[in-house]
Amino acid sequence: MATDADKFLYVDRNMVNNPLAQADWATKKLVWVPSERLGFEAGSVKEERGEECLVELADSGKKVKVNKDDIQKMNPPKFSKVEDMAELTCLNEASVLHNLKERYYSGLIYTYSGLFCVVINPYKNLPIYSEEIVDMYKGKKRHEMPPHIYAITDTAYRSMMQDREDQSILCTGESGAGKTENTKKVIQYLAHVASSHKTKKDQGELEKQLLQANPILEAFGNGKTVKNDNSSRFGKFIRINFDVNGYIVGANIETYLLEKSRAIRQAKDERTFHVFYYMLTGAGDKLRSELCLEGYNNYRFLVNGNVTIPGQQDKDLFTETLEAFRIMGIPEDEQIGLLKVVSSVLQLGNMSFKKERHSDQASMPDDTAAQKVCHLMGMSVTDFTRAILSPRIKVGRDYVQKAQTQEQAEFAVEALAKATYERMFRWLVMRINKALDKTKRQGASFIGILDIAGFEIFELNSFEQLCINYTNEKLQQLFNHTMFILEQEEYQREGIEWSFIDFGLDLQPCIDLIEKPASPPGILALLDEECWFPKATDKSFVEKVLQEQGTHSKFHKPKKLKDEADFCIIHYAGKVDYKADEWLMKNMDPLNDNVATLLNQSTDKFVSELWKDVDRIVGLDKVAGMSEMPGAFKTRKGMFRTVGQLYKEQLSKLMATLRNTNPNFVRCIIPNHEKKAGKLDPHLVLDQLRCNGVLEGIRICRQGFPNRIVFQEFRQRYEILTPNSIPKGFMDGKQACVLMIKSLELDPNLFRIGQSKVFFRAGVLAHLEEERDMK
Ligand code: ATP
Ligand code: MG
Repeated sequence: MATDADKFLYVDRNMVNNPLAQADWATKKLVWVPSERLGFEAGSVKEERGEECLVELADSGKKVKVNKDDIQKMNPPKFSKVEDMAELTCLNEASVLHNLKERYYSGLIYTYSGLFCVVINPYKNLPIYSEEIVDMYKGKKRHEMPPHIYAITDTAYRSMMQDREDQSILCTGESGAGKTENTKKVIQYLAHVASSHKTKKDQGELEKQLLQANPILEAFGNGKTVKNDNSSRFGKFIRINFDVNGYIVGANIETYLLEKSRAIRQAKDERTFHVFYYMLTGAGDKLRSELCLEGYNNYRFLVNGNVTIPGQQDKDLFTETLEAFRIMGIPEDEQIGLLKVVSSVLQLGNMSFKKERHSDQASMPDDTAAQKVCHLMGMSVTDFTRAILSPRIKVGRDYVQKAQTQEQAEFAVEALAKATYERMFRWLVMRINKALDKTKRQGASFIGILDIAGFEIFELNSFEQLCINYTNEKLQQLFNHTMFILEQEEYQREGIEWSFIDFGLDLQPCIDLIEKPASPPGILALLDEECWFPKATDKSFVEKVLQEQGTHSKFHKPKKLKDEADFCIIHYAGKVDYKADEWLMKNMDPLNDNVATLLNQSTDKFVSELWKDVDRIVGLDKVAGMSEMPGAFKTRKGMFRTVGQLYKEQLSKLMATLRNTNPNFVRCIIPNHEKKAGKLDPHLVLDQLRCNGVLEGIRICRQGFPNRIVFQEFRQRYEILTPNSIPKGFMDGKQACVLMIKSLELDPNLFRIGQSKVFFRAGVLAHLEEERDMK
């Protein structure tokens, strides 16, 4: 079996077992030293002077002074391009980076690191995702096949079937790292392997719908950013349910934190959500007039006009989106209803207001855009205009009409556009779920796939980053805890004494700082409190945080001189500066409730459906600092939830689900920020390995006995070091090992002898390996 795909899956062992490289490594005693350009460079130690070493660099022959602590051991060449880095005898940052880099440059993008599967975005299409490859992985054990997302998926699927345990596959990484692409491969694999329909032609409706869910979600939830032409602007958890026979019986999608502000504003060179371009480029004349569409440059919300994506035909994608709707069972009238809403979101941006000459009041000199909006959304123009310009507001027991300023009217319209888009997105997800849950058959077990942004650390960070970093803090905690449990089980199985710390607990203080409800309240609780407090501002919120949490170990006050940041949180991935501008507003997310009521009563069935739950809205006049207007809360008591509160609840539900599954972690890595194939920026990759816990995982491993080797192999490989230690004739594997180790005179703290394996501290095997090479 030699296919095109082979060289993107298998290491060429002829190249690896190169005697020259082995000799080079052994005679030169090669080590890794830090390098500005390469991350690490190979060199040989020429001289040791106290804390310093003189190292001759292997490539240039240049001699450099290096601090002893900065030198990292190099693995013998036979370890080159190992598939699981946990097997490395020298387990350090340099070796991990080197291994990933060597594999990546040979086209091998997947690598295991113990519990993790690390994948580096190839930025080109590799022939490793065909149906033949799916079949190759089907039913194989993890170590029988080269690393692949299919191997992870198959392992999850098999353990689900065998152990009847629900599974999860968690893809994280920064924007552009490949989370969504890998998520799609997981679904593709499962739709193929676990379909009750055996031929492709006969692919079941459910599988088809499952595969079509993603194009729809991407059309409405993805957009081009500077980092990724197809960036997901929401997180998602796809749960696929299986029956006792392992066939797919249904699925469900939960989404998180849609970046709805993209519907009204985009940074330079970025796009809003794809669907706008699909619609504007793809709609034919009849549809264009039905939807009141205009040219790209007529829309104020399309800040950058028509931005195209190289190699992407928006026109064709419009057809494909409609086709996906059809497969999903969304009838044509609903499709039109949906597109009218998409169009009206754009149209809302064209409503413009002026300040009246003799007062602060806003006026709308031209109501063309408002008329179009109302036509599309089934409202009366008079009612709508009044609701925007002078809404009825409750003062004490009475309602009064209160004229709005230009700023207030503009704010109301923008908030309305964002809310409309978000509600439409939620409706779509609901609709997709309805289709995917059609069989209503109770699944016996499930595999959940999480595609959510990794830690975000910008120069200055806002509320959105806090939410995503909070999420990652919890996911990392889950990982650390899982690793702890698995290690503990292995040690117990082998009957080895145990003194490991649960590193999952390490993350609790930072999680508390964000989510604790009281005594003292965490950041989210303080924000909620402040939101209901008249006259509160973002500043007063920051003061409260400083007052309540100022001395928290994971909290830093801003530095005096550097006043751009309001506070700093020491996250797992590093220190993150936050700026609290607009946090009250973002957390309240207020809306003009007069308009919401109109939409609720819209003559358009689809629109009124979107707005059926208006009693959960908080009115614009309720926002502290937003308006001088007093008034009782129009929301029914207890109904309203802040954005932070809702998210916290959603996240806690997700975590409860994940904790009941066997988790599989996929760490996606972006190799460079130029979207270029075959280029790996070593420092960028190292930063990600630090943030995503791969390096920390290694550090934790090193505190235990990371290298383990079964008795048989240990004897075979190292008996040469202990001649005559074992008497001739048969001897039990364990006994033989005990004798060999005795003869090696190893410090008892360096090893443990289990039931089937010997366990070693980091570096011990490497040392034995060196001695073996010298024999
Ligand atoms: P975001 O957080 O912005 O959504 P992401 O991690 O989901 O980012 P993807 O959209 O999955 O990133 O990947 C970005 C781009 O990288 C893809 O559109 C594709 O061009 C390329 N890419 C990623 N993974 C692969 C892969 N395995 N094979 C080929 N191309 C890939
Ligand atoms: Mg994505």
